[in-house]
Amino acid sequence: MSTYNIYLSPPHMTGQEQKYINLAFSTNWVAPLGPNVEAFECALENYAGVKKALAVSSGTAAIHLALRLLNVGRGDVVFCSTLTFVASANPILYQGATPVFIDSEPESWNMSPLALERALREAARKGRLPKAVIIVNLYGQSAKMDELLSICQQYDVPVIEDAAESLGSEYKGKKSGSFGMFGVYSFNGNKIITTSGGGALISNDEAAIEKARFLSTQARDPALYYQHHTVGYNYRMSNILAGIGRAQLEVLDERVAARRAIFARYVQALQHIDGVSFMPELPDSRSNRWLTVLTIEEEKVGVNPLAIIRALAEQKIEARCVWKPLHLQPLFRGAMYYPHEEDVSVSENLFANGLCLPSGSAMTAEEQNKVITAFLQKLQVRSC
Ligand SMILES: *Cc1c(COP(=O)(O)O)cnc(C)c1O
Repeated sequence: MSTYNIYLSPPHMTGQEQKYINLAFSTNWVAPLGPNVEAFECALENYAGVKKALAVSSGTAAIHLALRLLNVGRGDVVFCSTLTFVASANPILYQGATPVFIDSEPESWNMSPLALERALREAARKGRLPKAVIIVNLYGQSAKMDELLSICQQYDVPVIEDAAESLGSEYKGKKSGSFGMFGVYSFNGNKIITTSGGGALISNDEAAIEKARFLSTQARDPALYYQHHTVGYNYRMSNILAGIGRAQLEVLDERVAARRAIFARYVQALQHIDGVSFMPELPDSRSNRWLTVLTIEEEKVGVNPLAIIRALAEQKIEARCVWKPLHLQPLFRGAMYYPHEEDVSVSENLFANGLCLPSGSAMTAEEQNKVITAFLQKLQVRSC
């Protein structure tokens, strides 16, 4: 018995996955390495337009590896977008480092160049520049990479691009995830394509990816016996799961088109409502629209996102709040936070007013109509 009939973002299989899974079985490559892993990494490199990709067990593991490669350790500071899933910042804690959270700006909902600049200026003045900046591309929308990268370059701080939600998106004609020194993808079950669980670390720095490969396989020294000089992890992706990934990656562009069409249908059905606004798309960028997200002005529509989520749940439809900003999380109590402007916290407003609607690429028009009808019922407005 499932709680929902219509999920927020369920897996969408092609049917071709089985072909690659069978290949793993028939060759007995039932291991965290093998031909599917190699082929999947190669396909990812081609898709993202980068030199090297490393398939790993999760997006979180990929972020952790990136921090290790940048020598982040105890006492270091790492800047991170505040409006994101906790996985963006958990690896900062794994390394014993201190996160500092940066607000969003209203045009992409991603890291505010104004807030980042203020934070870096202050950090430089104190002689405590961060070892890395983790920039998240929320719900498929790329951050303002040109502005953010140029600020980071000024202070010579490397960027990790958390593109867990933006695989398939573009910014100025380049694939999202390929802008930072390192890019991170996730293939968790709810992402635009999935391996059930998995992730990837990508970079144009081949030596760095080789080092990540070493760290992700228990940091085993090249000797005939087992020797280790540094702490490692068991972070590699299984050859069976990489088989799922190969088939999924083949249809990524179709999945992006489907999610964008779902977004367009929601816009068409709901944009006439005064007090409802959809997540914007930056000019010169193309979001994969992983989730359709909108904001609701309670004074105008009479209900808040939580009331809508509850009403939809009664009809077995799964909707969610926008991520609760990390600087508001009990886990990160006391962490420093730089808002967009001294007295304007964009992320807090988005959290208070934001709503994510079911956006799975396999959702039928009929299912989407059910969501739209339930939404309009709760708002007590007529569709037109
Ligand atoms: C899903 C997600 C991750 C983590 O990916 P996993 O593969 O689940 O570990 C990291 N960052 C963001 C923004 C995500 O949405």
